[in-house]
Amino acid sequence: MKHQYVLCFSGGKDSTATLLYLIKEKNIVPIVTFQDTGNESKDTYAYIDYISGLLNGWTGTEVIKLKGEYDFFSLAIKKKRFPSMKARFCTEWLKIVPFLRWLEEQPYADDCTIITGIRAAESKARSKRKEHEDKSTYGRPLWNPIITWSAAEVFAIHKKYRIDINPLYKKGLKRVGCFPCVNAGRNELIVLARHYPDRIAEIREVEKQTGLSYLPRRKFNKITGEAIVWTIDQHVAWALKTLDGQMELGTIKQESTICAYAGLGVCE
Ligand code: SF4
Repeated sequence: MKHQYVLCFSGGKDSTATLLYLIKEKNIVPIVTFQDTGNESKDTYAYIDYISGLLNGWTGTEVIKLKGEYDFFSLAIKKKRFPSMKARFCTEWLKIVPFLRWLEEQPYADDCTIITGIRAAESKARSKRKEHEDKSTYGRPLWNPIITWSAAEVFAIHKKYRIDINPLYKKGLKRVGCFPCVNAGRNELIVLARHYPDRIAEIREVEKQTGLSYLPRRKFNKITGEAIVWTIDQHVAWALKTLDGQMELGTIKQESTICAYAGLGVCE
């Protein structure tokens, strides 16, 4: 059996650029997997189907959608909390484990290279990554073919092959993944509030039903130091108020907008 390439596809611009580069410019037909958390935007699900259709036309294959034992919400109920930067169980349970379970059953399990769309320009941590890495969380060699690319090059390859970009970017979001990622920053919350009020309503309902707060704590009591747990509506109100400069930022705990596990290529 010949060596197999397996691309972890998120539906974001970088993994789409990677797919285009492999197929159109390197003549490599990878197995393409999408690890579904059950918590993506409807736009992203539609985009995965769009890319899967294109892939079928180009290679006769399709995007393989993988699901784990739990989805994002049932996992939160099991864990009695939603994930956060400090409690990073989401990607492990929802993405890495389902992917590895699936991979172990494939005939090329021991003779494959995992491909991601990570780029060095995205963060300090990623600037230290290499194009080829022998060891990875997946236990197989890792190839990051667009590690040196700029965002402009990513957009350019979409344009070159006349491929639409995930519509979330056109709404102002900078990343694709859970909708929103628990590491979402102020800008993502503002976009969500403006363009996807239905999504806010869905999360509000989940919070009511579970008694859990979807996003991590952002504020601490100045006197007691205790964390103040906010609902999704409080987070959105905070994002909109700080946008207008009406709220003091001193006690707000800002969080990274970069997905904690983007380096594995499974969340952008
Ligand atoms: S996108 Fe964010 S919330 Fe979703 S699996 Fe990745 S780290 Fe977790």
